[in-house]
Amino acid sequence: MQNYAIAIHGGAGTILKSKMTPENELAYKSGLQDAVEAGESILKGGGSAFDAVESAIIQLENNPLFNAGKGAVFTHNGLHEMDASIMNGMDLMAGAIAGVQLIKNPISLARAVMEKSEHVLLTGNGAMEFAKKVNAVFENDEYFFVQLRYEQLQLAKQSNSMILDHTENLTENGEKKFGTVGCVALDIKGNLAAGTSTGGMTNKKFGRVGDSAIIGAGTYANNKTCAISCTGHGELFMRSVVAYDISCLMEYKNLSLQEACNIVVMDKLVKIGGEGGLIALDTRGNIVLPFNSEGMYRASKKQNEDLFIGIYK
Ligand code: ASP
Repeated sequence: MQNYAIAIHGGAGTILKSKMTPENELAYKSGLQDAVEAGESILKGGGSAFDAVESAIIQLENNPLFNAGKGAVFTHNGLHEMDASIMNGMDLMAGAIAGVQLIKNPISLARAVMEKSEHVLLTGNGAMEFAKKVNAVFENDEYFFVQLRYEQLQLAKQSNSMILDHTENLTENGEKKFGTVGCVALDIKGNLAAGTSTGGMTNKKFGRVGDSAIIGAGTYANNKTCAISCTGHGELFMRSVVAYDISCLMEYKNLSLQEACNIVVMDKLVKIGGEGGLIALDTRGNIVLPFNSEGMYRASKKQNEDLFIGIYK
């Protein structure tokens, strides 16, 4: 039997302690804790890493603080277009959706794509048609209306910019933060899984899709190596094929998880201006939570160890 382990993130960026109110900090921490506990309760009961990942991400999607599900940012047209992906390290099966609207839990729809279709990635109207077929839960526009997100859209429109969640000039406290949520888990059978879910960028246009929907870029899991979920500037993470690159460095160069993460997050991404971070877990239960931004909402828990929650550097 393998000791289980789980890690989650709620986005990376310029998250400064000096700008955070104690109430907000508490709210973020309790949101992170709830999500870890949801995943852990499955792992503790002998459940699969894959189920744990879905369950932790559902918690984060239902929390308006995070840019995914209920808290998803607004597009240029005042809509919410969400991306998500999930992967099973045991058999390299994966499912993903991009640009879907009104879906309560995009991560569960990504899972349905994997389990109930012959495809890996479905987008837009087609994905929503599929969602109806598999009885996914839909919500109305009001469910996704969050005042702060609406104000962010107005500011982004004024400056005619497309921005990642809470870019510097967009919050009165000067906080710059990437949204997106993710989870990686290892179960007692030694199986790894990873998942990622996001609203993407505020004021995005033209059906823009980020790395969170792309297997190998924002999400990857392979029992031979590791499980990865990313958050950051999606365009740069796609160009760097971040999640798969870490797995490759482990598989082909025999690097440790820590060494592979350092190369990709602290060197390769930095060199092309790819701000953000990721959560990573290997088959031995090692957890690495690297980021090259000021902060990253993150939490992890290993069997028989204390819960870790971090926000700042
Ligand atoms: N990576 C996500 C995207 O580009 C955003 C984020 O992580 O905040 O859509």
